[in-house]
Formats: sequence, structure tokens, C-alpha cells
Amino acid sequence: MLKLYNTLTSKIEPFEPIKKNHISMYICGPTVYGDIHLGNARPVIFFDVAKRYFKYLGYDVKLVSNITDVDDKIIEKAKELKLNENQLTDLYTKNFIDMTLTLGSVIPDLMPKATEFVPQMIHYIEDLINLGFAYVLPSGVYFRVTKVEDYGVLSKQNMEELNQGVRITLEDEKENPRDFSIWKTSNEGLAFDSPWGKGRPGWHTECAVINHEVFGEEIDIHGGGTDLIFPHHENEIAQTVVHDHHHLARVWMHVGRLEVNQVKMSKSLGNISLVKDLITAFNPLSFRLLMIGHHYRQPINYTDDLMVQFSKEYDKIERALKKAFLMMSLDDISTQQPITQYLEQFEDHMNDDFNIPNVMTLIYELVKLLNKEQDIQMIGRLYQTIKTILDVLGVMPIFKVTESTLDLYRAWNQARSNKDYMRADQLRSELAEQGWM
Ligand SMILES: [Zn+2]
Repeated sequence: MLKLYNTLTSKIEPFEPIKKNHISMYICGPTVYGDIHLGNARPVIFFDVAKRYFKYLGYDVKLVSNITDVDDKIIEKAKELKLNENQLTDLYTKNFIDMTLTLGSVIPDLMPKATEFVPQMIHYIEDLINLGFAYVLPSGVYFRVTKVEDYGVLSKQNMEELNQGVRITLEDEKENPRDFSIWKTSNEGLAFDSPWGKGRPGWHTECAVINHEVFGEEIDIHGGGTDLIFPHHENEIAQTVVHDHHHLARVWMHVGRLEVNQVKMSKSLGNISLVKDLITAFNPLSFRLLMIGHHYRQPINYTDDLMVQFSKEYDKIERALKKAFLMMSLDDISTQQPITQYLEQFEDHMNDDFNIPNVMTLIYELVKLLNKEQDIQMIGRLYQTIKTILDVLGVMPIFKVTESTLDLYRAWNQARSNKDYMRADQLRSELAEQGWM
């Protein structure tokens, strides 16, 4: 049985979807004003693996991830680059999608842009004002946090703790320093007409409204990075509870941070912190392996050494599979059954709150067995077992063997059985050059 850690209850719990055989997921997406950092890639990779595993288990999955294309940071960056906001967000949305695909993830089923939902957000904010949960000031509309009974339910903080250490800022006319902006009055940059003057919606309202519009009911899983628990996710919950009278999501999943250790970065690789730079130096799938090789809730301290280590691990797996693939192509046995016993072990680890590090240990054992195996039927079965697992993790390499490579391999075998060792060596090095040995 699948068990997941739920931030809302701080417990690992058995997972039961709300609707039989169906899983609804919402992941907070990027604010598109720059290139994607290594750390931003972690949720993009992890939640893709989660979706693949749910599908492997037979669930029908709907994954929605928003694009924040209206934000102060976008306005600043557009000014800096002398672009209009739409040009900027189109460019970085495209880059984000390219990087998502390059990292082996599938594009979510829906990627709604915040700007496509502004009229709905305005309605929603009006509702909150009418319900007494929001109030209007010259600087914008604010959500009345003190009126929500269990505010702090996700981040496990009470109002007293929350109010400690809150700096008194320019927004002092707010009723409570914790009240958050759901509409910001502004004429600068991208701004929309509203009953409260020109301005733009707040980020916390964006996700609450998109959930309301796209799902319209409680969903199974809401996810993001741990840095989003407070205030973003807490504020999404507060609005949904008072506006829609249901909880936003049953399970809250959060992936740990990835820190880039700049100090230890070697000069030769040039301080990689962007995905687009990393993929010029390494196979993107070996980076994906690094990301999932650490438990999703643990932080990762990224260094070049760590990347080189995972790159070597990935090469080892790839080489073993490639050799097996060639041998299977020669014998034309491509449709072997995977070995149930190992798939059961794989499922046990995955069901244990996505213990992918344990899955990796299993893969290394299977690769060892594959390298030693002589029987071609068994090679086929081990290959198929590893492939089934790697497909779920999204790190399966793709192989293509040409007729000329097969001829080369047959000639090598022939030379060996003829005891023509010089020729065999020569053919072997040709195969090695092509990466088949
Ligand atoms: Zn969000």
C-alpha cells in the first residue's frame, strides 16, 4: 500500500485518492522571469516521477502546474531588458518548457497562466470582501488572516508566534501585520482594471483561484518546495477554506531544497547554477539521477564532485544496458517479461514515501547481475526489469542499433571463435568506440 508523508498532518499516512482510480495534483509552477536554476528543477523532476509512478500503479492522473506571468520581479526584469512583460514571460515560459523536457519530465496536463485568470481572480477577491475576509486600502486589497480559525494549520504556527518578529513596514495601515496582499494597486508595468483601480493580483490568490477554476473541489495532492509552506501554501489554504468551504488538498507534499555550493565549485566547470549550463557539461538524465538519488524530502548540497559521481553512476547503468540491448538485438529477443520479484521490491520502496535511494540500490544490484549473466533469455528479463523501473524514474536511455553494428558484432564473435585474436581485438575496439562494449 502506498504511503506518503503529509506536511498537513506531519505523518506518513496510507494514501487513498478521493475518487477511485483517479489522482488530482497541483504543483506551484515557476515565476517566469529568468533561466531555471538547478534548485527549481527539483520539483519539476520529482513530481514527474510521482505522476509516472501513480500511472504505473494504474491511476488516471491529472497534473496541473501554473505559470506565474505577472509579478513585481517580472516587471523589474522587463524594464532591465527593455522588453514588455509579455515578451519576457513568453521567452522564459518557452525556456522552462524546453528545460522540463530536456530533464526527462513530461509537460503537465495543464499549465495555466496567471494572466488568463485575472477576471476570475477579481470575482474571487470581491467574494472575499463580501464575506468579510478581505478589506480595501489605497495600496490594495488585503486578506484578514485573524478571521480564519485555524490559520497556521500547515506550517504549524499559531497567530501569536506568527506576529512575533513581523517587521512593521510601510503597509502599517493594515489591520494586522500578517494580513497579506491579494490585490496590489499599481500603474506600473502590466496592470489590470479592477473595482479597486488598476493593479495586479497577489501570488497566493493566483494559485487558490486556479485550483478553484480548474478543479473546483478538494484535490488529492498539492505540492511544491519546502520554501513554499509558509506563507504561500498557508495563504492558499486560508482563502480556499473561507471561499470554497473545503480544504484545498488532502495531502501536501514538499520537496527539500537544493543548495548550490559555490565555494566548492571547480573553476574548470565554471560555477554551474543554471540548468542550461549544466546540460552542456553533463547528460541531463545523470542530473535527474542525482536529484532522485536523494530522498525527496532531504536537502541536497550540490557540488561538482557530486555531479561527476552521479554522471559516472549513470554511465555504468547505461553501458550495461547498452551491451545487453545489443546482445538481445542479435538474438532478436526484445519482448521478455520483467522479473516479478524485483518489481515487487521496487514497489515496496516506492510505496514507502518514494524511497528512491533504496530503488537505486536495487538498480545497482540488478546491473551487477546483468553484467554477469550469460543466458540470453535471462539477460532479456533483467533488461526488461531495469527498463520498467527506469521508465518510471524517467532515466531510461534510448538505444538504436544499426545493421552495420550487428555485423561488426557478428564478425567479432566469428574472429574469436576462429582464434584470430588480432582481428578480434580490432573489431572489439571498433565496438567500444561506438560505446557498445
Ligand atoms: Zn502556488
